[in-house]
Amino acid sequence: MNISPELFDMDPDMSDYTTFSHGLYIGGKWRPSSDGRVIEVIDPSTEAVIAAVPDATLADAAAAVEAAAEAATGWRETPPRRRSEILRRCFELITERAETLAALISLENGKALRDARGEVAYAAEFFRWNAEEAVRISGEFGLAPSGANRIVVDYQPIGICVLITPWNFPAAMATRKIAPALAAGCTVILKPASETPLTAYALAALYEEAGVPPGVVNVITTSSPGPVTAAMLADARVRKLSFTGSTGVGRVLLAEAAKHVISCSMELGGNAPFIVFDDADLEAALDGAMIAKMRNAGEACTAANRLYVQAGIHDAFAEGLRRRMAALNVGPGTDSETECGPMITRKAVDKIDRLVQDAADRGAKILCGGAVPEGRGYYYPPTVLRDVPAEAAMAHEEIFGPVAPISRFEGEAEVIAKANDTEYGLAAYIYTRDLARGMRVASKIESGMIALNRGLMSDPAAPFGGVKQSGLGREGGQKHGIAEFMEAKYVAVTI
Ligand code: NAD
Repeated sequence: MNISPELFDMDPDMSDYTTFSHGLYIGGKWRPSSDGRVIEVIDPSTEAVIAAVPDATLADAAAAVEAAAEAATGWRETPPRRRSEILRRCFELITERAETLAALISLENGKALRDARGEVAYAAEFFRWNAEEAVRISGEFGLAPSGANRIVVDYQPIGICVLITPWNFPAAMATRKIAPALAAGCTVILKPASETPLTAYALAALYEEAGVPPGVVNVITTSSPGPVTAAMLADARVRKLSFTGSTGVGRVLLAEAAKHVISCSMELGGNAPFIVFDDADLEAALDGAMIAKMRNAGEACTAANRLYVQAGIHDAFAEGLRRRMAALNVGPGTDSETECGPMITRKAVDKIDRLVQDAADRGAKILCGGAVPEGRGYYYPPTVLRDVPAEAAMAHEEIFGPVAPISRFEGEAEVIAKANDTEYGLAAYIYTRDLARGMRVASKIESGMIALNRGLMSDPAAPFGGVKQSGLGREGGQKHGIAEFMEAKYVAVTI
């Protein structure tokens, strides 16, 4: 069942992946689930079953916690320099195997190869960044205001961590958690999304090759994430839950974690406004909109979900975006010509189509796309709508697809109010040549992250995360990402 050597020796010819078996990765061993059941993995571009992975039971979850507990002391006591070197090796191996990993991501997720390559580079970077941070964790030393004692603060690994990740970035959402957790000295159990488990298992094999000891990273897939997660959180040795996914599931998990008073980091849904002022560089704004909207075919939490364009530039922007979106190549992600791959599931396509038809029914005009194509594969065409009213469901829900709804605005205060008219607060985009206005608007938008004259803000060196219903905590950045996996221990010392 060990997939490591074969996987990376293979030419990235997609058909070969279908013959793989993948085990639960527990304590450095590959194994089937305790009841032998499996989850089928589907290629979203053909709807064909391409692989089967074990369907972990409660007993398997208990074994994974046990393995993480057995490895905990050894890893915590491994010198930071050694941990750093292992993380650095993970970065190097992911970078060396980038093409194979990108092909695997495209195959199971459907995203275009160029997006998959971008994801692999981003995923690897979390290891490089955290290898550098692993040796810079330091404490505090001070004098109590009373003068009676010294205050010594030490930062210690929080304990065993349960990490749960979504399907839209199968590599990067996992490494964004695993790398800082390992840098902090924690052992982990990763539960990747059932739709895209192959990347998580391929990466596990690679961590082992890089020198991550058995039990430090464990990976289990399950079709019963609720009970399996609840069982792991009920084990008193588990002290951290780090989740990336939808706000609805995040709320359920926060309630579950509350029963055991477990520290939680929550990277949840988004509804990013993309604001273009009259004085923006039109071409730059269009380039940025294509990235902010179409990276991963719109299946990104940071995706531009609502485009607000000021009256003076509105028509030119709408026409420019229509032209660019209509020209995109739609096809299987694994085809190197593809610019927009399929969605993850039929359900996702149905949701996107419902939102588009709802907006059209409320008066929005469809400039291109807007209809589900015939045939196999979970495709939705790049779609642009204009005159989208505030009551349209897509103004409030995550579209999570290649659909760009444009609305016109007149003034600054008006667009700030519109941008903030959502329960989410993850990301926002602003285009203006007036830097003072850009900074003023950025400070008033209720969002954890802002891209000013840029279509992309994700960077392992910056704190990623949201406010309002978009989550709790930050990943990446100087100290922020690792701090989520550490506890401060204060010692009062009389000297
Ligand atoms: P999801 O919430 O349905 O699933 C996410 C993960 O949670 C999967 O592994 C799933 O199996 C698991 N899960 C589902 N129900 C569970 C339960 N009851 N207990 C434990 N685990 C459970 O989300 P998704 O559809 O996979 O991903 C899309 C969502 O993720 C979008 O809302 C998107 O905005 C969000 N997202 C957020 C970020 C961020 O950094 N803020 C990044 C990527 C995706």
